[in-house]
Amino acid sequence: MHSHSRRGFLARMLGGAWAGASLLERAAFVAARARAQSKEPLPVLFDIEKVADGIYAAVARGRALINCNAAIFENEHDLLIVDAHSVPSAVFALVAQIRRDITEKPVRYVVATHVHGDHTQGLAGCRQISPSVDMVASARTRSLLAHSGAARLKSATEGAARSLENLRQRLAQAKTAEEKAWCEEMIRQTRAFQEEMRSVPLELPNLTFDDHLTLHDKAHELHLSFRGRGHTAGDIVVFCPSKKIIACGDLLHSFFPTISDGYPRDWPGTLRSIQELEFERVIGGHGRALESRERAGQMRAYLEELVEIVARAKQDGVPLERLEQTITPATIKTLQGGYGDYLSDSVKRFDFRAQLNTPAEVMARGVRENVTAVFRNFDRP
Ligand SMILES: [Zn+2]
Repeated sequence: MHSHSRRGFLARMLGGAWAGASLLERAAFVAARARAQSKEPLPVLFDIEKVADGIYAAVARGRALINCNAAIFENEHDLLIVDAHSVPSAVFALVAQIRRDITEKPVRYVVATHVHGDHTQGLAGCRQISPSVDMVASARTRSLLAHSGAARLKSATEGAARSLENLRQRLAQAKTAEEKAWCEEMIRQTRAFQEEMRSVPLELPNLTFDDHLTLHDKAHELHLSFRGRGHTAGDIVVFCPSKKIIACGDLLHSFFPTISDGYPRDWPGTLRSIQELEFERVIGGHGRALESRERAGQMRAYLEELVEIVARAKQDGVPLERLEQTITPATIKTLQGGYGDYLSDSVKRFDFRAQLNTPAEVMARGVRENVTAVFRNFDRP
């Protein structure tokens, strides 16, 4: 297919959005599609839900390489988008979808809630679409990215190669047609990721703050703040007081917390600080679009219980291996009464990688990984 007809196809697919797109945006869309090397339109990778006037949650569909959710705040003349996914092409797909379904206003700000690749590897794509976009993060996140970003990109690529190996083995042993199809799709997506990652540069936020940054816009005020360490050393939240919505990245979502880069003893206090804000609903970094306020308390209680269990084990000299055998979903009080089922259901629904696991397996793995990470990171300075 010639690039000329490809452009024609995109123009048809994007309709009015294509007419309104800048030359750079058009170039980015064409490049994304050329990379996809198929006659399909840019893939729809998100389900966008309106959560309040001028606020939307883009919930990432399950992929072999996980994308984060995005929160979209529609300002008077432009957009602020929270988080930037695992590859630039996911950003192109999201922006195309926004232009088609919501508004043609330009992207003015992209906020990176924290350093992880599934929230930042798409930043280069934002820069490609809008060279004047401001990329906002905490000063801590920028410094983490500056120091470890290149190594993180490398390890994301190496991780993809390893999982490709595992998937190939699993495909060879697949027993059902469903499992075979799942492996093949995972392999296809992982290869596409590898291919794209070859040329993804490290993009650093250009606008940082230590604790607070307020954006005053006629549509609403947006309060960005760092409230303590938790999922990483630099997580921030974006709070809209007038609409009582908060976007929390991975500090608060409907998956099990990811603690491997985290500060388990600080995290509950950080959630307590978030709970001081008068929000009603939460857009989380993964999983379903909207959490109720109560989820902050449930996640905090779960983290507090894990910290308590590990503190006791450390005091009694119980090794990690023993702890991993004795602590199960059934022994954790805060997972009873619905919270555990809510977590495993959300993972099953929104994480493609968990598709072939039973809810009990998802739950057991979530708890095991959490216990291990709390143990390892317990005394982190
Ligand atoms: Zn993360």
